[in-house]
Amino acid sequence: MALINENYLKLKAGYLFPEIGRRVTEFQKANPDKKIIRMGIGDVTRALPSAIVKAFQDGVSEMANEATFRGYGPEQGYDFLREAIAKNEFQDRGINIVADEIFVSDGSKCDTGNILEIFGMGNKIAVGDPVYPVYVDTSVMAGRTGEGLSNGYYEGLVYMPCKAENNFIPELPTEKVDIIFLCFPNNPTGTTASKEELAKWVKYARENKAIIMYDAAYEAYIQDSTIPHSIFEIEGAKEVAIEFRSFSKKAGFTGTRCAYTIIPNELKAYTEKGEAVAVKPLWSRRHSTKFNGVSYPVQRAAAAVYSEEGKVQVQEIIDYYMENARLMKEALQSVGYTVFGGTNAPYVWIKTKNNQTSWDFFDKLLNDVNVVGTPGSGFGASGEGYFRFSSFASRPNVIEAMERIKKAGL
Ligand code: PLP
Repeated sequence: MALINENYLKLKAGYLFPEIGRRVTEFQKANPDKKIIRMGIGDVTRALPSAIVKAFQDGVSEMANEATFRGYGPEQGYDFLREAIAKNEFQDRGINIVADEIFVSDGSKCDTGNILEIFGMGNKIAVGDPVYPVYVDTSVMAGRTGEGLSNGYYEGLVYMPCKAENNFIPELPTEKVDIIFLCFPNNPTGTTASKEELAKWVKYARENKAIIMYDAAYEAYIQDSTIPHSIFEIEGAKEVAIEFRSFSKKAGFTGTRCAYTIIPNELKAYTEKGEAVAVKPLWSRRHSTKFNGVSYPVQRAAAAVYSEEGKVQVQEIIDYYMENARLMKEALQSVGYTVFGGTNAPYVWIKTKNNQTSWDFFDKLLNDVNVVGTPGSGFGASGEGYFRFSSFASRPNVIEAMERIKKAGL
């Protein structure tokens, strides 16, 4: 008798985006003449810049020629990409990360989901609330939680509420935790953490022999020069943190797939007897056993993000999305919404008016002005009463969506 992994049965049905899709499809069927503007899912919309496309094509051409053809590459990534990342993302910013600490992968979703595999089942895991759902769902799948509760939480996880009252920065947990997922700039709230705030977490992790899983998928959107792009800007973080980065939002790679994870040489976790074990060799072993590397042309394309032309073109697209965010923020504030995020992140996070629930606001927005956003409650109980707009849209659509909201007096 083949047994299934019953942890999968604990997962809540009706995951956020399918439910949004269902409601939008139903509305469109009933109203085929209405033009729906989608500002819900956090997928980019601008095409890959030409410098990246050229490198991608050159990589493909090399594969067509026996003299330059490549088969399996190094599982951890080609040196040319690891070195370009180390230099441009870290060393040029004065952060001491070397190529050997960087593991290239096909996405931060996979990395943040897979990383727990090298850590013991007895770890207490803390997550923000609201939160990028992958950290929670992969913990459930791996049997690291108990049952799902009626408020959307799972037994066994420690939830750290992020609300306007704490500027959407989680407070240090009162119970001792071992693994902490932090994401800044945050999805979904669009908020960032200062060096002082991150330093508190690094101190906590050092004192409790805990590890911070720092998801910096949106760091390229930081505009304010005082905000850290990396947890490794904080002194002592290399002993207690892993960082996840992705080319998805930085350079439009959501469909191309390339990301990387940084595991410092100094990072240690412990056996039950308390012996310290270096983490990096374990991830390296895992990567070599279960992953065969990102395709060569994709890694060539990713390296082009750091060419002179690539840097300019990537920045132009980031600026475009951030101008969208500015326009959205301005328009929503002008009609009386309290607006968060959107200045150092591509997400604008609003408080609904008159305590309207997130899903009620979703339905109203869809029905009255045919605009789609994401209900905050879909990211966690503390997201109730909030709503996320993504700036990954075309400028004309952003302008039209905001005009419709203003005109309808929503
Ligand atoms: N981390 C966060 C916080 C995200 O919002 C996303 C995508 O939306 C990812 C990771 C996934 O990145 P990737 O496309 O590299 O898998």
